Amino acid sequence: MNDLQKFSDRLGSAVCVLGALVLCSMAACFHSGAAGQAAVESVSAEGRVERGDIKKIAITFDDGPTRFCTDQLLDGLKERGVHATFFVTGKNAEIYPDLIKRMSEEGHLIGNHTYSHIQLKKSNREKFKQELIKTNEIISSITGQEVLFVRPPYGTWDKAFEGELNMFPVLWNIDPLDWCTDNADCITRKVVSRAQDNAIILMHDNYDSTVTAAFRIIDELEKQGYEFVTVEEILFD
Ligand SMILES: [Zn+2]
Repeated sequence: MNDLQKFSDRLGSAVCVLGALVLCSMAACFHSGAAGQAAVESVSAEGRVERGDIKKIAITFDDGPTRFCTDQLLDGLKERGVHATFFVTGKNAEIYPDLIKRMSEEGHLIGNHTYSHIQLKKSNREKFKQELIKTNEIISSITGQEVLFVRPPYGTWDKAFEGELNMFPVLWNIDPLDWCTDNADCITRKVVSRAQDNAIILMHDNYDSTVTAAFRIIDELEKQGYEFVTVEEILFD
C-alpha cells in the first residue's frame, strides 16, 4: 500500500471516529455496571490459594477483514487463547470468506459494520438498512450464525433498527486512535492506561502497528488480571 492510500484509509477512519465520538458517552448504557466482577480462587507462586477478582475487557476490530493484517491478528489471538470481536464490512467479508470462517471457527464474535462502510443519513435510511441486511446474509451464509451486533460507521444510528432488525449497536470506551499513528508503543500505552473492568477497546485490523499493539495490550492486561471476552459477555452478562 502506498503512502497516499494509507493516508486516505486513515483519514476515512478519522471521519468515522469523529462521528462516533459523539456516541462514546452512551456506551455506559450498554454495560452491566459493576455486576461483571466475579470472585475467583487462584494459586500463587508459593502454591497458596488466594482470592482475587477477574476483570473483563473486550477488544474489537473494525473495517476488516484484510489479507495483510487479519491473518496475523488471528494467529496471535489463537496463540494467546483470546477471543475478540470483529465488526466487518459485507464487502470485505465477500472478498475474504476464508477469514470470516476462520474467525467463527476460532471462537471470535463477528458483527456488522454495513456493506460499504456507509454513513446513515436522513436521506438514505432504507439503503443503510438494506446494507445491514445484506451484510448479515453474507456473514451468516459463511458462518451459519445469526448476526446480532452492529457498529455503525461514523457513529450514526437509528434506534428503531434495533426492533426492526433485532440488532444491537456496540460502542466503546477506549479509543487509542490507532488509525492516526504507526507507533505501536503509543497505542499500547493509551489503552493500558485507560483499561477498566467491562471496557470495550476500539481498534482497526488494517494496520500493522495495530496488530503489534493488540498483542502487547493483551499480554500486559492479562498480567494485570484482565480476561479478554467478546462484547456479548460485556453487554449481556
Ligand atoms: Zn469503520
